[in-house]
Amino acid sequence: MTTLPVVPHWIAGAEYPSNSGRTGEVFDPALGVVTKHVALANAAEIEHAISTAHDAFGEWRDTPQSKKQSVMFAFRELLNARKGELAEIITSEHGKVLSDALGEITRGQEVVEFACGMPHLLKGFYTENASTGVDVYSTRQPLGVVGVISPFNFPAMVPMWFFPIAIAAGNCVVLKPSEKDPSAAIWIAKLFKEAGLPDGVFTVLNGDKEAVDGLLTHPDVAAISFVGSTPIAKYVYETGSAHGKRVQALGGAKNHMLVLPDADLDLVADSAINAGFGSAGERCMAISVVVAVEPVADALIGKLTERMSTLRTGDGRRGCDMGPLVTKAHRDKVASYIDIAAADGATIVHDGRNDNFDGDANGFWLGPTLLDHVPTTSKVYTEEIFGPVLSIVRVKSYDEGLNLINSGAFGNGTAIFTNDGGAARKFQYEVEVGMVGINVPIPVPVAYYSFGGWKNSLFGDTKAHGIEGVHFFTRGKAITSRWLNPSHGGINLGFPQN
Ligand code: NAD
Repeated sequence: MTTLPVVPHWIAGAEYPSNSGRTGEVFDPALGVVTKHVALANAAEIEHAISTAHDAFGEWRDTPQSKKQSVMFAFRELLNARKGELAEIITSEHGKVLSDALGEITRGQEVVEFACGMPHLLKGFYTENASTGVDVYSTRQPLGVVGVISPFNFPAMVPMWFFPIAIAAGNCVVLKPSEKDPSAAIWIAKLFKEAGLPDGVFTVLNGDKEAVDGLLTHPDVAAISFVGSTPIAKYVYETGSAHGKRVQALGGAKNHMLVLPDADLDLVADSAINAGFGSAGERCMAISVVVAVEPVADALIGKLTERMSTLRTGDGRRGCDMGPLVTKAHRDKVASYIDIAAADGATIVHDGRNDNFDGDANGFWLGPTLLDHVPTTSKVYTEEIFGPVLSIVRVKSYDEGLNLINSGAFGNGTAIFTNDGGAARKFQYEVEVGMVGINVPIPVPVAYYSFGGWKNSLFGDTKAHGIEGVHFFTRGKAITSRWLNPSHGGINLGFPQN
């Protein structure tokens, strides 16, 4: 019997094998077999990881900004040159097709590039002579040790939303990746060391709820960036905040695409296919519901089914369009929504369970699935499915569609498809969602804007990356200074007036 490798932690600039005696299973979803185990940290390992990061903080904070930037630039160059290796790791544990894995790395790399401009982003203001002989200026300083807790669906991009900014701003990061696909984080840690990052500045703590709770409650952790499902995001926000930490917790989603009758239906169909089935629907910005303002639904369904018949689902290493779902349990849960839809009176236009798959028979397969006439009372409509199941809801007017979107519990992303600029402008103004696309189905903001939703899609005030990310990982200080000269004098207990 061969012993499977165990993905270790990364502590003090080296792999750190676990002694906890607890491990999780890591699958290759296209093969349907366990290929590795992952360490699940115990209390001693959590303490060691955080204290190593804490010890590294003073020196990293004091490191000149130019030196920090040279590490970030070197990291960017190495990542760009070797991202193919990382994409293969992602595909082997997550299942997404290789081109999509490369795509997520590229989006993460944009944040590294943004963080390369940190000296400019950290600059403060200076007011000379705010009062007589008094100058006022501001600066931003790092927080210390910050925790990043990430989900399975973007094992490289989501951590990269946070750690480049946190580190370039002078913090030390403890990353707790998803236990479903932990190897990307270890690869990134090795690359950072090669780029010259001092030991302890970037730590990978593998684990489950115990590791998350360790980060949420440890007195030496100043802030938490979390991304995952809504119930856990809410828990993380409440627990971290109760322990005095700054917390941003991004949660789940149910994204709608509103299609007006004047839209270009070929563009709509292409966009709905890409946004509904890309990464097998395991994207927080995936389109889950197409809200078709009649009379477009029948024509649109014709175009969607035509395109769906050309999609190839299979092993992400074989040039397919769509890969498997991440685990068998998740695949079965997603597939169960098709039965719920039928029971609730929806029309199953195409059932992806019956497709042929270009991969191992044991892979966690589910083909693209299309549902029509989905009742908005059905769990298929109200719950996040997180798989390749696209629902059509038919409405009579723009207002009915808008009200539907605004009455949802989530507010992550949405899109409108129309050729009417006035309607698009009205939608961007009226819709209660954090990220809006106009004829763009997945409106993930570029790195120098900030990513985050409204309502149950984000707990906390601050979004990821962009200026909000810089502010999240730093705290401002205003300094009022007076250098005495021989002419000063006199006691005055009031505020200075001039
Ligand atoms: P998840 O909530 O199961 O796990 C996220 C993280 O929380 C993981 O690191 C996991 O180990 C940890 N965790 C799991 N259970 C926990 C518990 N009981 N206590 C403490 N920590 C726990 O999410 P997932 O299945 O890995 O990812 C998919 C979810 O993430 C979807 O809901 C998706 O919408 C969401 N997501 C949101 C965004 C966004 O930007 N809003 C981005 C990506 C993914």
